[in-house]
Amino acid sequence: MYEIKNRPRNGAGKRFNMAIHGTTASGYRIHISNDNEKTGIMSFSTLAGDMSTKYGGYVPETRKGEAVKVCGTCAGTCPDCYALRMTRYNAVFDNYRDNTEAVKADPVGTVLAIEQLLFSNPFTAPRVFRFHDSGDFCSLEYFTAVCAMIARHPETIFGSYTKARDIVLSYGVENIPANFSLQCSPWEGVCEPIADLPQFIYDDGTNPELASLPHCPAVDKNGKRTGVMCKDCGRCYRAKRGQKTAVYAH
Ligand code: SF4
Repeated sequence: MYEIKNRPRNGAGKRFNMAIHGTTASGYRIHISNDNEKTGIMSFSTLAGDMSTKYGGYVPETRKGEAVKVCGTCAGTCPDCYALRMTRYNAVFDNYRDNTEAVKADPVGTVLAIEQLLFSNPFTAPRVFRFHDSGDFCSLEYFTAVCAMIARHPETIFGSYTKARDIVLSYGVENIPANFSLQCSPWEGVCEPIADLPQFIYDDGTNPELASLPHCPAVDKNGKRTGVMCKDCGRCYRAKRGQKTAVYAH
């Protein structure tokens, strides 16, 4: 159901097709993950927002040799951010760093460049796309540009998980395009639920009320990956407002 149309046609050369690359009109490089092994869904990500604080002021340098202020790309500092663990040293770090720099410097131009990469060829346009395997909506300007782009492509389902409560409420939940399945991921002390949005709730075992909720099939009770991918499950991408899904701590 959620086939990725521009997935490489065969295994040969697949490792060279893990991302597609572009440049904003203002000269920032951006990268889209083409074949996420965890979700199976194309995505655009930035570095996790507390990267610069959790690691003692660590601020990654950009390709231009400048520093990019990463703190603030997420709405809050989650107690145990999986995206931090995921991106700290692995191969996507440079791409996420470029994307972070672009989004913070030129959010509107970045979204236009993403749109160009995704939709300039109708034969490779994705049916499903995710914003942020890592990162979050870091400004109202960025979120507004994303929603405007999504509204221009009703044939594609977009998904994202957010803790950027103030930004979403400033934009207005009622203004979010119908083909944008935006999940609030509430976390005690970081983000309260956003009324009318679906919720994707981290279950670390401390809240017995979560036990009765449907749980994400991608993660088992021990926090291990089961092999189920979002492209096959699709629950989050067809979520109705108010739907609740829990996910075991991982
Ligand atoms: S519930 Fe389904 S779509 Fe949502 S994160 Fe889990 S596997 Fe992916």
